[in-house]
Amino acid sequence: MNIKLHNTLTGRLEEFKPIKSGEVGMYHCGPTVYDYAHIGNLRSYIFADILRRTFEYLDFEVRQVINITDIGHLTSDADTGDDKMVKGLKRDGLPLTLDGLRQLTDKYEKVFKDDLDTLNVRKPLHFPRATDYLKQEIDLIRQLEEKGYTYKIQDGIYFDTGKLTDYGKLGGLTPLSEGSARLKTDGKKSDRDFVLWKLSKDGHLGFESPWGMGFPGWHIECSAMSRELLAQPFDIHTGGMDHIPVHHNNEIAQSEAAYDTPLANFWLHNEFITVTEGKMAKSLGNQITLNTLIEKGFSPLAYRYFLLMAHYRTPVNFSWEALEAAQNAYRKLKEAVSTWQIDMKNISRLDLDNSYAEEFKEAIENDLNTPEALAVVWKLVKDESVSPADKRTTLLDFDKVLGLNLENNEFEVKNIPKEVEQLLKDRESARVIGNYSKSDQLREQIKNLGFIVEDTISGQKISKS
Ligand code: AMP
Ligand code: ZN
Repeated sequence: MNIKLHNTLTGRLEEFKPIKSGEVGMYHCGPTVYDYAHIGNLRSYIFADILRRTFEYLDFEVRQVINITDIGHLTSDADTGDDKMVKGLKRDGLPLTLDGLRQLTDKYEKVFKDDLDTLNVRKPLHFPRATDYLKQEIDLIRQLEEKGYTYKIQDGIYFDTGKLTDYGKLGGLTPLSEGSARLKTDGKKSDRDFVLWKLSKDGHLGFESPWGMGFPGWHIECSAMSRELLAQPFDIHTGGMDHIPVHHNNEIAQSEAAYDTPLANFWLHNEFITVTEGKMAKSLGNQITLNTLIEKGFSPLAYRYFLLMAHYRTPVNFSWEALEAAQNAYRKLKEAVSTWQIDMKNISRLDLDNSYAEEFKEAIENDLNTPEALAVVWKLVKDESVSPADKRTTLLDFDKVLGLNLENNEFEVKNIPKEVEQLLKDRESARVIGNYSKSDQLREQIKNLGFIVEDTISGQKISKS
């Protein structure tokens, strides 16, 4: 079977066919680095990582790009409001200069990349910054200008969506106001027209261009960088659901208008992480960062496990209780794998349990069905007819896709405090004589000291709570 993916462009599950046999090029809209990424944003990159790992597991050569938006993203995706960067500079008390901008974006770019490392997200081939591709962005705008797709108003150069008959291919467009096919606001010909080059107010903070000091529009950045670093068309473009109506429709409009060829063949979108009050967003101030999770004592990969429990196209409501449940399951899985310590040196892929390997592959090939893949994992863990060596080898093979670092158990305690050691011994003795109520009472005492004890085939296993 071949991999099937849900393509937003057609609204259907489609068999993936690469442009070049055995290779796949993918572009993931990256963060706007004016603030910390929240765990909702990070879902987009864990999803991108699972996609990449799946292709690698299926022996594709993957070329992957995650851009860094370090200029040009206004607080509303539809080109209204302040520049997010200006907002970040003011908040962090930095000067409104290019140096200040660089300090701001360097800081949040680094934190973002560290978060990806912590979540076991493999590094993409390229992490381009929009300000390093000004030439390509300007060239693309000039190409559009030459073909008559642009017009100039007071604050910048705009794309004229009215010149296209198929604008909004991805869907999700917000309706124009009643009675008017084209609503005029702010001098734009239509509400849907979008900025390609925004002129700096009073000539401050910006870059030279044929139209004056300013900066590229957010949408043009992605079109220019993906074409430069992959090709046009390339195979797969991804992003969060919120990018469908504006950002991705605009990327498609300008790239196709400029070069008369599709931008990407497959468009994949991950659903949102929500909190009880609604969506998690920096603008709403209800964001939770990875660091908050870690400070609360959670393993970052427990968050990865939490996400894998849901399909990427399912909205997930985040709660601390749900994360705790995920962490418990994740801990149990790691405990299980670590009890099957065997000499891995002599084990090859031939030792995989093939029926499970087939089931696992089927799940991930079906639009990255990670909940199904985890179900296969647990079925295998519980299957007593499979030898520990085969289980371990098979699970470590699956982990190439899941990225849960199953080989190492960070919950395992290397130095057990003396007090806990004594309680463990007492508990062992209680169990030998069948005194299970005492054993349970000792387990509680151990828990109060910050440790969890579990009974496994090779005896009591202790981990940090
Ligand atoms: P931004 O830095 O705002 O451009 O967002 C980076 C990525 O996170 C984009 O792919 C967004 O679509 C995605 N995103 C934003 N908020 C959420 C959320 N609450 N849940 C999942 N993805 C999100
Ligand atoms: Zn983008």
